[in-house]
Amino acid sequence: MNTIEEIRSQFPALQQLVYGKQLVYLDNGATSQKPQCVIDLVERMHTGANANVHRAMHKLSDDATALYEGARERVRQFINAPARENIIFTSGTTASINLVASSFCRKFVGEGDVVLVSGDSHHSNIVPWQLACQACGAEVKAIPVLEDGRLDMEAYRRMLSGRVKIVAVEHISNVLGIVNPVGEIIALAHAQGIPVLVDGAQGIVHAKVDVQEMDCDFYAFSGHKIYAATGSGVLYGRQELLEAMPPYMGGGDMVDTVTFERTTYAPLPLKFEAGTPNFIAQASLAPALEFAARLREGEIAGVVEEQERAIIEYLKGALTGIEGCRIYGLPEEASGVALGEPGSKIPLFSFNIERCFPSDLAQLLDKMGVAVRTGLMCCEPLMTRFGVTSMVRASFLPYNTLQEAEYFVASLQRAVRMLR
Ligand code: PMP
Repeated sequence: MNTIEEIRSQFPALQQLVYGKQLVYLDNGATSQKPQCVIDLVERMHTGANANVHRAMHKLSDDATALYEGARERVRQFINAPARENIIFTSGTTASINLVASSFCRKFVGEGDVVLVSGDSHHSNIVPWQLACQACGAEVKAIPVLEDGRLDMEAYRRMLSGRVKIVAVEHISNVLGIVNPVGEIIALAHAQGIPVLVDGAQGIVHAKVDVQEMDCDFYAFSGHKIYAATGSGVLYGRQELLEAMPPYMGGGDMVDTVTFERTTYAPLPLKFEAGTPNFIAQASLAPALEFAARLREGEIAGVVEEQERAIIEYLKGALTGIEGCRIYGLPEEASGVALGEPGSKIPLFSFNIERCFPSDLAQLLDKMGVAVRTGLMCCEPLMTRFGVTSMVRASFLPYNTLQEAEYFVASLQRAVRMLR
C-alpha cells in the first residue's frame, strides 16, 4: 500500500453508494469500516476454525485457540505490554472500564474515597465508576475542561489528594479530538501513589501507544474502532494490580478448581475472561492491528500523516468560514504539535451552526451520501459544559481523502442554506 486510494481499496464498505451517492463515511469515531484481511479472517474462522477456545482436544479448537492467543500476542506487541498476562480480552472499552471499576473499587476503594475522572469523559468512563462508588460509599469527581477543550491541569493538581484512589482519563476525547497530556497526568498521580486508567477508545486509533512508556496502570480500548470485528476489546493492566484485584465475572475458563464451598481462580489473563469469549472477533484483532501497524510504517506513514494534516488544516479554515459555526476543542497551541502527541488535534471535528439543528444537518448530509454523527455522543456532562444538547461530528481515518473533506463541507454549506 503506497497511496490513500490503495488503502481505500481494502475496504469494501467504502465502495458503496447510499441514496445513489458515493458514500463519504465520516463516523469513524463511532466505528471503523473493516479491511478485507479482517473480513477474510472472520469468514475463515466461521467456515473452518469455529470451535470453543481453550477447552477441547481437537483440531478445530486448537486452531481457534491458536488464532485467539495469537491475537493476544499481536495486541501485546502493538501496545508494547510486557507480557500476555497483561492483556485481558473484553467485549470493548465499556466492558474493560466496567471490569476495572467494579473489581478495583471492591478491593481498594471505600467510604469517603474519591475516583477522579476527566471532564471530557465518555459515559463509559463515568457511569461504571458511579455504580462502583455507590456500592462502596465513594464519590466521583471530574477534572474541569477549559473553554478551548483542554483539561484544566491546575485544577487537576489541586484535586489530587490522599482521598483519590484512582484517576480515569480519556486519552483522546471522542468529542473534542484533543490528545490529553496523559503522561503528565500519570506522573502527577503516581507521585502520590495513585494509579491511572486511560480510556484509549480513540487514543489507540490516533496515537502511538506504548503502555510501558506511558506508564499507565490500565489502558482500555475497543477493537471495532481500529478495524477489528465488533465485540472485540482489550484491557491492559499492570500485573501486580490485576493479581490483587478480585475476578469480575465468574464462570467457565476463569477457574482453577471449583467446589461448592470454595473456588480458586485461573492465572492471568484467564482469571478475567469468564465464559465463551467472542473468540472470532478477538482473533480479528491480529489482522486489524497488523493493518494499522502497516499504515504507521515506511513510506505510507508519511502519506497518511500528510493527508491527515491537510484534512485538519482544511477543516479548520472551511468550518470556521461558515457563518455561525462554533468548533469545540480547537486550542491554538495544537497547530504546532506533532500529530498524536499531547496537545495535538486529531482529524475529528465537533461543531454547531447557529440556527441549524444538528439532527437536521445530519439528515440532509445523509441524503447527500455523507455519514456524520450527531447528538450527545455519550458525553452529556461535556455537552452541558459547553451549554449545548447536541453537536455534529465528522471524524476521519487514514482511508478518508481530502476530496471527501471538501465534499463534506460543500454538502454542509448546501444543508445550511436549505435550513436558513
Ligand atoms: N470511550 C470513548 C472515548 C469512546 O469514543 C467510546 C466509543 N464511542 C467508548 C469509550 C465506548 O466504546 P465501546 O462502545 O466500544 O465500548
